[in-house]
Amino acid sequence: MSIDPPIRSVDLTRQYRQLQAQMDAAIQRVLASGQFILGAETASFEQEFAAYLNAPAAAGVACGTDAIELALRTAAIDPGAEVITAANTAVGTVAAIERAGARPVLVDVSEESLTMDAQRLPPAISARTRAIIPVHLYGCPADLSPILAFAQNHHLTVIEDCAQAHGAQYRLRKVGTWGDLGAFSFYPTKNLGAYGDGGALVINHPEWVERGRALRQYGWHTRYISQESGINSRLDELQAAILRVKLPYLEQWNLRRRHLAARYRQNLTGVGSVRFQESPAEADSVFHQMVIRIADRDAVQRRLTQAGVQTQVLYPQPIHLQPAYQSLGYQLGDFPVSERASVEILSLPLYPELTDDEVDKVCAALIDVLSA
Ligand SMILES: *Cc1c(COP(=O)(O)O)cnc(C)c1O
Repeated sequence: MSIDPPIRSVDLTRQYRQLQAQMDAAIQRVLASGQFILGAETASFEQEFAAYLNAPAAAGVACGTDAIELALRTAAIDPGAEVITAANTAVGTVAAIERAGARPVLVDVSEESLTMDAQRLPPAISARTRAIIPVHLYGCPADLSPILAFAQNHHLTVIEDCAQAHGAQYRLRKVGTWGDLGAFSFYPTKNLGAYGDGGALVINHPEWVERGRALRQYGWHTRYISQESGINSRLDELQAAILRVKLPYLEQWNLRRRHLAARYRQNLTGVGSVRFQESPAEADSVFHQMVIRIADRDAVQRRLTQAGVQTQVLYPQPIHLQPAYQSLGYQLGDFPVSERASVEILSLPLYPELTDDEVDKVCAALIDVLSA
């Protein structure tokens, strides 16, 4: 028996229906204003988002990948420098390092949290290392304490990749405010998502704010005069207005994600070989993804699809095994935890508008598949 219609991994139409009146008004307001790039909406969103995080400043940019690139440029990470990140991450993290002219150096993740394992940092450092990019993957904060301590000892810049972790907390402080800089994505399916591409650069050193803002627009400090070479990566007014409608709901949406994740965990604890991503101590995940680890993942995923449950695999290949990154010189076996995770992980449907009943149906279907 198959669930009909199928339960989707994410369904953004439910949220739009809830927000439609407010959202349509915000979009109309922008259209009527005649101002589409870096106007009042973007300036207000930047202030509201920085206030939400309790960060000194945020700059709206075109996407999360650009936010990471701009963070590296703002910190003046020189071309040829090495930047350490996790092997288990979105390609965007690594693409941004390359765009900034630096060389990505990978480290493995911890078995429990699937985020950067600080114990892997010492062998990865060289005389050219300038920065570390921990990734708060699936909404779960990386264990920042040992990473920040290592960075401080070696005078390295820390840029947090918060693309999946809007509102997540480490030691009761929002991620994105622990490192020197933070990078957020507003890709539509993220915890805070635009209706197109968008991102934010969070700047935690007040003396870097002007530079960070200027670099997203050709390095202009004064209009049309480039003080240094920058790029064009701006959040547009429509996306900023859309994000301003959504930001006040982010906390309640994250609470709802936590509730649903706890329900999954309760329903699936002890079922077959199912394991969960474990948050480090004092880290509060915002569950961008509900990731389980399971034996025979591909077969389980196929049978769940047949049963009417859509799932995803984030990510099916760690960075070092992807064709484009063979040039980094790594081999199969170099990052065993990431490699094992990539064949075991499965993201179950999770978004704030998913119902408790739907979670129970997904769990029942999974238990069915595993007992067949
Ligand atoms: C989505 C994502 C990015 C890239 O963000 P875009 O807005 O798609 O450019 C980078 N890192 C992680 C971990 C992501 O999930």
